[in-house]
Amino acid sequence: MRIDIVTLFPEMCEYVLGESIIGRARDSGIAELYCHNIRDYTADKHRRVDDYPYGGGLGMLIKAEPIANCFEAIIRQQGKRPHFIYMSPQGRVLSQQIAVNYAQRESITILCGHYEGVDERLLDAYIDDEVSIGDYVLTGGELPALVLVDAVMRMIPGVLAENTSFEEESIFNGLLEYPQYTRPEEWQGRKVPSVLLSGNHAQIQKWCREQSLIRTEEKRPDLYAYYAKEVK
Ligand code: SAM
Repeated sequence: MRIDIVTLFPEMCEYVLGESIIGRARDSGIAELYCHNIRDYTADKHRRVDDYPYGGGLGMLIKAEPIANCFEAIIRQQGKRPHFIYMSPQGRVLSQQIAVNYAQRESITILCGHYEGVDERLLDAYIDDEVSIGDYVLTGGELPALVLVDAVMRMIPGVLAENTSFEEESIFNGLLEYPQYTRPEEWQGRKVPSVLLSGNHAQIQKWCREQSLIRTEEKRPDLYAYYAKEVK
């Protein structure tokens, strides 16, 4: 899979994409990740990419032209059009299902807005999907884009270690994950549940399943209600 991020702050993205699991996946070639600086695509001699909105209003907007130039360069590099996503508080809220869907695509390009956002005509001309990471407003689309990349990347085969599975984690199967413990067996008077030390795999599985249900009902009654009605 190939992911391109189009941003005014490529260093911010590069740093995060070079770390830990995502960094290793990138180094090993499991996925190609590229960050493009919008300023490299402007014809303005001062490399200016923003301007005042028509009709007034506070703040600045990123102009359409440099972003379009960058998008066209990405299309030329790939020989085909990727799926264009704009990170925006106006988009549909990111979910595991949306991430699953993107992970199956060959190529996505993610646009990060800044200031007051982006000239609407650019969005009309190119963007296939607007995605929000929640009902709050951030200063830029870089953190949301990185959240999306992380959620997508960890579902690409080979990114997670062989002994871990995203299918067993919270949300994926409609429930939250059961509580987990590591050494020591007792910490500050708190003991690991004895069933987990029993070696009885059937009992352990049963306990994990029950805990998953209890925890989802307690912490996320909305998920539990959906699960009980639609999935169970
Ligand atoms: N004026 C815009 C509005 O009211 O819809 C908000 C612009 S925001 C200050 C600047 C940029 O941050 C946006 O263009 C978007 O790329 C990004 N952004 C802010 N909040 C976001 C969120 N919740 N999810 C995704 N992107 C977000």
